[in-house]
Amino acid sequence: MYSYYIIIISFHTVNCNTNTTDFKLHVAKHLMSLIEKALILPGELLFEEAKKIRDKIFNKKIYLRAIIEFSNVCVNDCAYCGIRRSADVKRYAMKEEEIVKLAQYAEDIGYGTIVLQSGQNSIYDESLCEVIREIKETTSLAVTLSCGEKSFETYKKWKESGADRYLLKQETSNPELFRKLTNRSLEKRFACLKALLDLNYETGSGNIVGLPEQKLEDIAKDIVTFAEWNFDMLGIGPFIPCYGTPLENCRAGDVELTMKVIAISRIVCKDVNIPATTALRTKVGEVSNIFDCGANVVMGNVTPYEYKKLYRIYPGKVCVFYEPESWLENMKELIKSCGLKPSGERGSRKKGRFKPNFKTLEKIVEKLNNLSEDLTSWEKRLEIENITKDCSKLL
Ligand code: SAH
Repeated sequence: MYSYYIIIISFHTVNCNTNTTDFKLHVAKHLMSLIEKALILPGELLFEEAKKIRDKIFNKKIYLRAIIEFSNVCVNDCAYCGIRRSADVKRYAMKEEEIVKLAQYAEDIGYGTIVLQSGQNSIYDESLCEVIREIKETTSLAVTLSCGEKSFETYKKWKESGADRYLLKQETSNPELFRKLTNRSLEKRFACLKALLDLNYETGSGNIVGLPEQKLEDIAKDIVTFAEWNFDMLGIGPFIPCYGTPLENCRAGDVELTMKVIAISRIVCKDVNIPATTALRTKVGEVSNIFDCGANVVMGNVTPYEYKKLYRIYPGKVCVFYEPESWLENMKELIKSCGLKPSGERGSRKKGRFKPNFKTLEKIVEKLNNLSEDLTSWEKRLEIENITKDCSKLL
């Protein structure tokens, strides 16, 4: 057996023909095909294993985090996103004092983390420092930012002001697809992720599952990248077509496939924080199933209604019509009804406790392969790939 269980490959740096490189490529190929197999096999066993790992590591806790969507002003024009620059939506930018007050309110009602998310804009490059400082001085909240691609200096200023975490999803690890969808370079996005890791942010990536033209192979590579980069958080959600975007008539991402991506990421990346994303909950509803795949985090929206209705990155967002406090009470009940424990702790990841590893996944795939005939798997694969072919002409 090779020692590929510990992550060692770098897709981004493979460019010479030494023996080591051959070995790395071999390992990479093996892992990709392992994940592709896992993605097309029935989900149950993956879900069972993912839940087991989650419950053991987090002692059955589900961390509740609050999110404030403080501005929908965005300079980017991502084809999937309903607040892209060219979308016809009323723009808003909340006042700094308003953001601080909402964060304090989030702590008052029992949250341990505040996530500040916005479209990518430079309005707050300076003023966010003061917002972060005030939140840190007046509360004991962990502060997570999610404001897009910024310079090293800006990330540094925000970190020095007290920010703890940063979410910047890679969206897809296929550079051509990323370019087509965003008109930007994936390399730059990964350079930002590297800067965030270098600055010691707890760093989150993640992907969108079921994007037009996305192949199973791309999704497998996403998961290998999650493990390779050892991210602290992973936001994994299905693609939801949004009216007024070039992809409005495309098919939505498959819920079961998304849940399998979450489960495999849990099995491989162990103690990483993985939310039951708003996109997933929008597709399945606020039901107990959302925790079935091994997610250990859920986010409640505390943005005032007048703003959150305009932060429509995709339609039907599950949080828009809920009032924060009753949503929180209902969610706690839902979590308890699954035999899990709602937690308002900060829930930081302690890096280094676990190494990403593929051993368990390999065992499950072997077991499942013995149980189900390959034929059904290939049918499933075709079905999934056909879904994503639909919209290729639109890109
Ligand atoms: N400006 C920030 C935040 C973006 S919005 C940034 O660039 O990171 C947060 C996430 O919503 C995105 O990372 C993307 O993965 C997701 N998203 C946007 N549009 C979506 C859609 N139509 N379907 C599913 N997820 C979507």
